[in-house]
Amino acid sequence: MNPILVALDVDSAAKAIALADALRGSVGGYKIGKQLFTAAGPAMVHELTSRGDRVFLDLKFHDIPNTVAGAVQSAVATGAWMVNVHASGGSAMMKAAAESATKAAAALGRPRPLVIGVTVLTSMTEAALAEVGVTRPVIDQVVHLARLAKQSGLDGVVASPQETAAIREACGPDFQIVTPGIRPADQQGKDDQARTLTPAEAMKAGSTYLVIGRPITGAPNPREAAEQIAASL
Ligand code: C5P
Repeated sequence: MNPILVALDVDSAAKAIALADALRGSVGGYKIGKQLFTAAGPAMVHELTSRGDRVFLDLKFHDIPNTVAGAVQSAVATGAWMVNVHASGGSAMMKAAAESATKAAAALGRPRPLVIGVTVLTSMTEAALAEVGVTRPVIDQVVHLARLAKQSGLDGVVASPQETAAIREACGPDFQIVTPGIRPADQQGKDDQARTLTPAEAMKAGSTYLVIGRPITGAPNPREAAEQIAASL
């Protein structure tokens, strides 16, 4: 499968649908995050999944287990192919999410979505982690939470390209690793992403899926940009 998941970071359903229509067939799926979801709602997810698109619903649930289970149940009803929760919500919360995905999918007679954990947000520095009481190095915390996610029945994690190899080593070949922070060779250091890898480097480091936004959505011809990235893999 094409591993490119395009981040539809736009503020309206019309813009998202236009982008998705332009890219369909050249990418593996679309990521809908908090901005678009809050603006356009579950109907937006339906709109794409009903066309056969894979949608990664990136809402990063983090709440008590019962509430997260309910949120995952609602996410399954949108037809999402991948959903995520914060691994720092703990094993009981992650287990509740995974079980809810299985149950809700069976009840609706559709494939179970992948349930992915967010380890440590890439915006968090060592100092920011210390501020909330985590004093070990970021990479240790990331690998710790990735292991906990696996033990709790999650299918994988979101991770920065720098963390991919360590997680792959700790969690084995079948664990899904979803990697943002990707920039083609000629766009390194662009935008607000630091410590980026190229798409090919990220795949080599062990990524399963690449989340790519602006290098595709901000290109003069998004489809051409997506095709070039796919060809580079
Ligand atoms: O435009 P760009 O390629 O930077 O978009 C990356 C996408 O991945 C955005 O939607 C961003 O919010 C998301 N993301 C990220 N880093 C993370 C988690 C998610 O850039 N650690």
